[in-house]
Amino acid sequence: MTQPAVQTDRLVKEFGDLRAVDELAFEIENGEFFSLLGPSGCGKSTTLRMLAGFEQPTEGDVYVDNERITDVPPYNRDVGMVFQSYALFPHKTVGQNVGFGLKMDGVDPEERSTRVAETLELVGLPGFEDRSPTELSGGQQQRVALARALVIEPSVLLLDEPLSNLDLKLRKEMQFELKRIQSELDITTVYVTHDQEEALSMSDKILVMNNGKPEQIGTPREVYNEPANEFVAAFMGESN
Ligand code: ADP
Ligand code: MG
Repeated sequence: MTQPAVQTDRLVKEFGDLRAVDELAFEIENGEFFSLLGPSGCGKSTTLRMLAGFEQPTEGDVYVDNERITDVPPYNRDVGMVFQSYALFPHKTVGQNVGFGLKMDGVDPEERSTRVAETLELVGLPGFEDRSPTELSGGQQQRVALARALVIEPSVLLLDEPLSNLDLKLRKEMQFELKRIQSELDITTVYVTHDQEEALSMSDKILVMNNGKPEQIGTPREVYNEPANEFVAAFMGESN
């Protein structure tokens, strides 16, 4: 039995009286594309933020490669995160945006520019270093955000509804691109979405959540064809 790349143990997050995440336990294998799927407000982003270290769990623990990282600050975790809103620095060039994490890590300028160039090529934006993010399309900005997350060569990639601001055609194209890059790097990926079709078409495993609780963990085929309960059946049935 191989060890999981990511593991959570009874993860709980409370905001005052609200239990946003309620005893969530899951394991993600190396190289797996794992989706957190559920309706708006069910606790997906809060869960991802606990994996990234931006949110401290009320109870429970997070492990990456069998190491407990619950108390490790975000910048010391071996994870890269892409946000729904891209969160690029508008006054910096694409190259500076992508190279930011490397600069923070003290990587010298020469190696930095090599790695930035390689990563921009990986995401389909070769030679974009000197462009401004403000002159790029939404899809291109999201590729820059992806490059910024990947340039540090994290062992886990965290994506929070990265395609939800794109129109349908671009979304399809970026789904394909994300899968291409993910399988090229064979990187363990946690993907947050409220879109059933997106989760079904992209994932190796899906965790269906509701009210902070896990309803079912399974392959796309399992959650679609063999829903564990009424909630999963109704929620998956809302697709197409
Ligand atoms: P999702 O990403 O699935 O839409 P979230 O994880 O963002 O859900 O939120 C889960 C619940 O926690 C929601 O009810 C939301 O309003 C609440 N919540 C999230 N962040 C905070 C916060 N910082 N303070 C108070 N409540 C929050
Ligand atoms: Mg969210």
